[in-house]
Amino acid sequence: MRAPLNQIESSPALPDTADVVVIGGGIVGVFTAYYLARRGIQVALIEKGRIGAEQSSRNWGWCRQQNRDARELPMATLALSLWEQFAAESGEDTGFSRCGLLYLSNDDAELDGWARWGEFGRSAGVDTQMLSAAEAARHGQVTGKPWKGGVFSPTDGTADPSRAAPAVARAFMKLGGTVHQGCAARGIEREGGKLSAVVTEKGTIRTRTAVLSGGAWASSFCRQLGIRFPQATIRQTVMTVSPGATELPATLHTKGVSLTRRSDGGYLLSVSGRARVDPTPQFLRFSPQFLPMFARRWRSLSPGGLEGWRSGHESLARWQLDQPTPMERMRILDPTPDAATVRLTHARALALVPALKERSVTASWAGYVDSTPDGVPGIGEVTGVPGLVLAAGFSGHGFGIGPGAGHLIADIVSGAPPIVDPRPYHPDRFQHSSWGKVAEF
Ligand SMILES: Cc1cc2nc3c(=O)[nH]c(=O)nc-3n(C[C@H](O)[C@H](O)[C@H](O)COP(=O)(O)OP(=O)(O)OC[C@H]3O[C@@H](n4cnc5c(N)ncnc54)[C@H](O)[C@@H]3O)c2cc1C
Repeated sequence: MRAPLNQIESSPALPDTADVVVIGGGIVGVFTAYYLARRGIQVALIEKGRIGAEQSSRNWGWCRQQNRDARELPMATLALSLWEQFAAESGEDTGFSRCGLLYLSNDDAELDGWARWGEFGRSAGVDTQMLSAAEAARHGQVTGKPWKGGVFSPTDGTADPSRAAPAVARAFMKLGGTVHQGCAARGIEREGGKLSAVVTEKGTIRTRTAVLSGGAWASSFCRQLGIRFPQATIRQTVMTVSPGATELPATLHTKGVSLTRRSDGGYLLSVSGRARVDPTPQFLRFSPQFLPMFARRWRSLSPGGLEGWRSGHESLARWQLDQPTPMERMRILDPTPDAATVRLTHARALALVPALKERSVTASWAGYVDSTPDGVPGIGEVTGVPGLVLAAGFSGHGFGIGPGAGHLIADIVSGAPPIVDPRPYHPDRFQHSSWGKVAEF
């Protein structure tokens, strides 16, 4: 089942030329297009399915600094301000609010980890508060359970995944940008080694710059150009319940299950990190490079089926620019939710918060989360293809940092001073091993 998502209308016609073509209309692509358009740059945003319909509408909506890897923290902090600024300057509603994120635990090792991160976070200016047992019990009153401790990060928040990407795309269009849905970019053309055009299923757009914000499809697109981008996807399942009478915290994370309030008053329930690995040709190809990642997370991963293989996003096939590609056969990646995970999630949620019994199950869906070997996105101009900027591999945290990433990509493309140091994100690092470099989520 697809996650709820607002729809927007496409622009009437594909332009012949553009200053920049953004390939992929998830949260990263729409914010990139928006920040470029604000600088007066003419942008065409190309989306093979619907704006926001893949990962960007399927996630929890958490926009957090809490427990961020040091490489991503500066971007995460800026992104929170940008979410607010976007609403003020565009008048569009992404559902963002700094509702605070609540973490509770009875596990000493987990609490020690949060305390260590807290020291680092506070040194970087993050408001993060360790909770004593009494404070944790007060914050987690709805659970009716004792807790050894927890964390509350009051300046973090959530945005609404069903509204955010379409809202940003609308704001981009008001600035003169064009949006083309149901239009896959099949590849690029080069002149003198430099990017000179983006070839789509509906025509060719002459341009000197393209941003590839294609989420789970980025690696197979790169492969057509002889670029090696190690990327793997895992299938995560979430579910929702209806609004109810009892007031619950806006967010609550525990090891067993997590809750997030949605705009309609319902809740999204999920087991953090739990996912299925659907083996694909690409997965098998890059798996040696992902060993450090799997060594860290194997406990929450289990083998899946052939769905990823059939979806085509991780195909090793080469395609022709004048023939339909796997992207046109799979307009929207909409993987099957894992039934066992839905049952487990619901049972754990009811055990954690008994008041959830008054709420009925409304939906469940899954999403392919795209990851890099070190869990940090690849952002930067691709070495060997001048004019092509990669922006993918957001490794399960791209929604919250979407505005920060979009701003940075717009800085790189327009030659403006970057809002954060771009070096930790440069894709060239994927040519080296990731042992000792995997992000702690
Ligand atoms: C269950 C789940 C929970 C998550 N929870 C959180 C969370 O709480 N907080 C958080 O920060 N992150 C979370 N994430 C991760 C987050 O959703 C992603 O990191 C983020 O949405 C990635 O955005 P994106 O724009 O890179 O990719 P996507 O949203 O996947 O968008 C990529 C788009 O590119 C399009 N595309 C690809 N190739 C082409 C092409 N050649 N031509 C045209 N279009 C193309 C696709 O159709 C797609 O729409 C979660 C993810 C999942 C699945």
